[in-house]
Amino acid sequence: MIGERMKIAIIGTGYVGLCTGTGFASKGHDVVCVDIDEVKVNKVNSGIPPIYETDLEDMLKDVISKNRLRATTNINSAIKECEVVFICVGTPSDDVGRIDLKYVRQSALDIGNALRECDYKVVVVKSTVTPETTENIVIPKIEEASGKKVGQDFGMCMTPEFLREGSALKDVLEPDRTVIGEYDQRSGDTIEPIFKELNAPILRTKIKVAELIKYANNAFLATKISYSNEIGNICKRLGVDVYDVLKGVGMDHRMSPYFFNAGAGWGGSCFPKDVAAIIEKAKELGYEPKMLQEVVDINKRQKVRMVEQLQKKMDIKNKKIAVLGLSFKANTDDIRDASSIDIIKKLLDSGAIVAAYDPQAMENMKHIFPGITYNENATETLRDADACLIVTEWEEFKNLKDENFNIMKNKLILEGRKVLDKKEIKDFDGICW
Ligand code: NAD
Repeated sequence: MIGERMKIAIIGTGYVGLCTGTGFASKGHDVVCVDIDEVKVNKVNSGIPPIYETDLEDMLKDVISKNRLRATTNINSAIKECEVVFICVGTPSDDVGRIDLKYVRQSALDIGNALRECDYKVVVVKSTVTPETTENIVIPKIEEASGKKVGQDFGMCMTPEFLREGSALKDVLEPDRTVIGEYDQRSGDTIEPIFKELNAPILRTKIKVAELIKYANNAFLATKISYSNEIGNICKRLGVDVYDVLKGVGMDHRMSPYFFNAGAGWGGSCFPKDVAAIIEKAKELGYEPKMLQEVVDINKRQKVRMVEQLQKKMDIKNKKIAVLGLSFKANTDDIRDASSIDIIKKLLDSGAIVAAYDPQAMENMKHIFPGITYNENATETLRDADACLIVTEWEEFKNLKDENFNIMKNKLILEGRKVLDKKEIKDFDGICW
């Protein structure tokens, strides 16, 4: 239990909002999660997470049973009751890759309207927003709608979120660090206790710096993967395993050994849109970020490289290709910008017949590819297949053995995530190994 139990409203009950809210509630805070989606709100109140995330269901049920968390569509009442409001709505890309702020603007307007009749509260932007958004858009909108003044009638912070889908709750409760961008000291002092008990270093800084830390962070991680793939594509031509090379590279003290994830490319709800958004923001500021653009281009090519490797080995027209793994990474049902989408599209464009399996993401993928076959397990997917592509690093694929693949018509296995066990499986090929 914490020293200071706070009343917290979370606006936007998606991956970040729900995991943050559930995590805070598990620490003893009173949390109300707000969303415009009534179906989501009802599910949350029944203890059913609208998304798949490790351990979320158990923790959500626990905090609801203790009356520490509830969900509502009524933002007005939620804000009036709370001391701190977190904005956790989505910030998708627009047509050219800039950040689309329509949900953030709407939240700022709703918060402003509610604040008209309220005493001092702190509003915290947790959504990923490009530098200057909080100060140039969110604060003016709240001030206009509320008739109140930042720093006087309400406080303002920006705390970027670094959670990873698949381990979101753990990341909320055990972050590497918390970054608090604050309008003034009172704003930062008000919210610091919420994060203090997480036992991670807290960096208090300016709002604009906090906004940019998030983009700089994701841009670096995406770069680390594209770099690993660049080296990996050289390794493939040399007949060596990129992971043997990167192991040696990671032993250099100037680098961390983590996240040299060579393979079938990066995707997900964050890297693609965040790297695109910081590129567009840089251009708006009069700077052409060529390195980041190349990081994106390497990734685009990497996503379909496995199909190209397959096409060098066989004509895939009218051939059954088993695709194992659809989510952009393991332990999530999220398929946003997943490599599997580009891979399946290229397979279908080349006339292949696609059979797919994923432990969590098939329902989501049916909206994008309703016409392909979805199987209940890996074995059924592999039956009579002419080739198999492994696209997501799900734990259950790590346990596949030779006998699982023996039911293929043609045992051609290509993997994009370094999951198969060489000791168990006699013959397979990797994208960069
Ligand atoms: P999401 O799409 O899963 O959830 C957003 C939620 O906001 C939805 O449930 C939507 O219905 C709700 N919403 C939209 N407008 C609203 C409004 N006016 N009032 C109340 N609710 C509203 O998004 P997410 O993945 O949780 O991401 C949220 C933010 O956090 C984004 O800026 C994202 O970039 C950032 N982020 C995401 C992750 C991640 O792994 N998903 C990690 C770090 C940061």
